[in-house]
Amino acid sequence: MPFKILVTGASIAGNAAAYWLARSGHAVTVVERSPSFREGGQNIDVRGVGREVLQAMGLEQAALAQGTGEEGTAWIGEDGEIVAQFLSSDLSGDGPTAELEILRGDLASLLYDATRERATYRFGDQVRQVQQAEDGVTVSFQSGASDHFDLLVVAEGVGSATRKIVFPGENDPRWMDLTMAYFTIPRSDDDDRLWRWYHATHGRSISLRPDRHGTTRAMLSLQKSPSGEQDWDADRQKAWLREQFRDAGWQASRMLSAMETTDDFYFDVLRQVRMPRWVDKRVVLTGDAAWCVTPLGGIGATLALTGAYVLAGEIERNADPAAALGAYEAAMRPMVEEAQGIPKIVPRMMNPHSKLGLHLLHGVLKLASQPALRDAATKIFARPPKEPDLSIYGALERRGEVETIAQPPIARL
Ligand SMILES: Cc1cc2nc3c(=O)[nH]c(=O)nc-3n(C[C@H](O)[C@H](O)[C@H](O)COP(=O)(O)OP(=O)(O)OC[C@H]3O[C@@H](n4cnc5c(N)ncnc54)[C@H](O)[C@@H]3O)c2cc1C
Repeated sequence: MPFKILVTGASIAGNAAAYWLARSGHAVTVVERSPSFREGGQNIDVRGVGREVLQAMGLEQAALAQGTGEEGTAWIGEDGEIVAQFLSSDLSGDGPTAELEILRGDLASLLYDATRERATYRFGDQVRQVQQAEDGVTVSFQSGASDHFDLLVVAEGVGSATRKIVFPGENDPRWMDLTMAYFTIPRSDDDDRLWRWYHATHGRSISLRPDRHGTTRAMLSLQKSPSGEQDWDADRQKAWLREQFRDAGWQASRMLSAMETTDDFYFDVLRQVRMPRWVDKRVVLTGDAAWCVTPLGGIGATLALTGAYVLAGEIERNADPAAALGAYEAAMRPMVEEAQGIPKIVPRMMNPHSKLGLHLLHGVLKLASQPALRDAATKIFARPPKEPDLSIYGALERRGEVETIAQPPIARL
């Protein structure tokens, strides 16, 4: 039976979930807090099973065509020289630079464009209250509207407010002791097609990555335990970054001055979302709202795409919604737990504080990048063994193939 479904959040997880649920014939509304579609964000990659989902959506080639064109990853020394590099053309699989590297906004736009005709989108609103019953959920919105749905899919990212309403106090975040800021800066003549990554003492690193928009994507990161910086406003965050990075060297001053005028500053104190459950009656969490693994896990977008597909597939396979949501959680847990299992020592090892630590890091990277070792060294980027088996959801795709995209618009909120 088709359901009336509310999805909250219109980024990777929300758009992908809306796509697959609408393609299965459900009446889907997507509510996004932002007043319009969010196009910003920096480099993310899609690997393994996430590529399969894009392929099933018919979007893989478009995503590859819109890729950032990054050709590999290089670590930069104190004098701007390359200390170690992993060129994609030298590797037999995905390395630090994956084959499918794309900007978050470009991937989200592809998903949104594929879904906007199938689902009803509503921007500039968010959930205020949720009342659950056995057969559905009544949602009140900040705008004053309210409506009843068979299912509520929460895809609001790491800081999800609706998660806090439905699962109060249940998230036990795992702070990864790493703070990151991403922003776009003007391209300069010597910016190349490599992800160039420079480390300075005191756990600081800065990196520059190419894009296909004629600009350069900058990242500043600092290894330290968190002090609530994620709650500061952007001006305070920028002032703090200026102070921390003013003597970092390499291209720090170029980045700090460009940071002042950038229009897509994104700042995050990395924490994993650790939820003991993702389902409460007819409410289900997905994407970062359920399991944020942080950029350290390297598969946030892959998991968001996969979770959307598995969720819609289980709803297709199970007549009983409770069984479907339980099966979705059981299918996704192993891959999520594996991705979250990254030891907390890793950010510390990858972001040394002393000169000696920097020498050691560079020495290890230099060794690992040698032809005899580099394929073995990049095995850590290979497909995780605990990916769900997507072949059991074949009915989802077959159903999509024969379906026209014209859904009757569901009742307006
Ligand atoms: C603007 C932006 C920039 C990003 N930049 C980077 C980056 O540079 N590098 C990186 O590794 N990751 C970045 N991320 C995170 C990355 O997209 C996710 O880790 C991953 O793709 C999983 O996506 P998600 O859809 O689960 O969550 P997200 O991509 O975080 O999307 C959540 C969506 O929900 C919306 N939302 C939030 N609260 C509510 C609410 N209460 N009601 C309705 N909607 C709500 C948000 O506006 C957003 O559109 C960015 C996310 C965003 C939103």
